[in-house]
Amino acid sequence: MSRRSKEKENERPWMAIGSDVVRQIRRHARSSIKTEVCGVLVGHEDGGGMEVEACISGVNAEQAGAHVTFTQDTWEHIYKVKDQQYPNQRIVGWYHSHPGFGIFLSDHDTFIHKNFFSSPKQVAWVCDPHSDEEGCFGWVSGRIERLTQIQIIDRQGGEGAEVGGRPEPVMSASEDDEPPTGQRWTPEPEDSETISLTQLTTTVLSYLSVLLIGFMIGWYFFPRVMVVPVPVDPLTGQPLELRQRESDRPRVDSPQNGQAATSNPPAKSGSTDAGKAGHDKQ
Ligand SMILES: [Zn+2]
Repeated sequence: MSRRSKEKENERPWMAIGSDVVRQIRRHARSSIKTEVCGVLVGHEDGGGMEVEACISGVNAEQAGAHVTFTQDTWEHIYKVKDQQYPNQRIVGWYHSHPGFGIFLSDHDTFIHKNFFSSPKQVAWVCDPHSDEEGCFGWVSGRIERLTQIQIIDRQGGEGAEVGGRPEPVMSASEDDEPPTGQRWTPEPEDSETISLTQLTTTVLSYLSVLLIGFMIGWYFFPRVMVVPVPVDPLTGQPLELRQRESDRPRVDSPQNGQAATSNPPAKSGSTDAGKAGHDKQ
């Protein structure tokens, strides 16, 4: 049993397809999200398998219910493009889309494959533009089966894809090249700068408001404490009462003399007495 299944696995042809071709088929399928589209695969056979190098979209394909049909016009267009652009390649299979109903070959699809793509290496590529699933069917021991050995070739150094993969091409190379987080982090410095600027402004404003409140509190409380000593400040000799009393004295003519007199002990004692007297009077 196991040997038989192994032999069968060896009979199963492999296929290789360019990632650019996969993308082209996806684009074609997505261009018609409700109805099926079709086309042919162009490439060459290689030993136990074959390689798909290009595809030609089938224009003027007829929609018969849910199934696509290659009309005479479709074939004419396909052969015209093939002779012009791919004269040395062969038509190695066909593709069509199943918008929203998965990867399989219907009876109609099997009919097309048997009648138009009956060569042992010719394959049928199916893709679902809704789920981005893909699959490939080929001849295995005279029957049409789903192929398991499918290789996506990244020939142009661009992004690749995996069969039956997720939305948008998933390629290890493109993922390893540059992590998406690097791109996500790029705009962040601007954001943090803006945030820090906002924080700075907020901090400065809060400090200013605290200062203002402190100043108002100080302004509210201090005048009562300050106002009292100022009129009787003995050091400067400026108090109104003191000046009046000093003006009574004949010796003190100018403020300079008054200040000098205050610095002298005898004069100071007199002035302080006067100040005290004035203060007591208040
Ligand atoms: Zn189909």
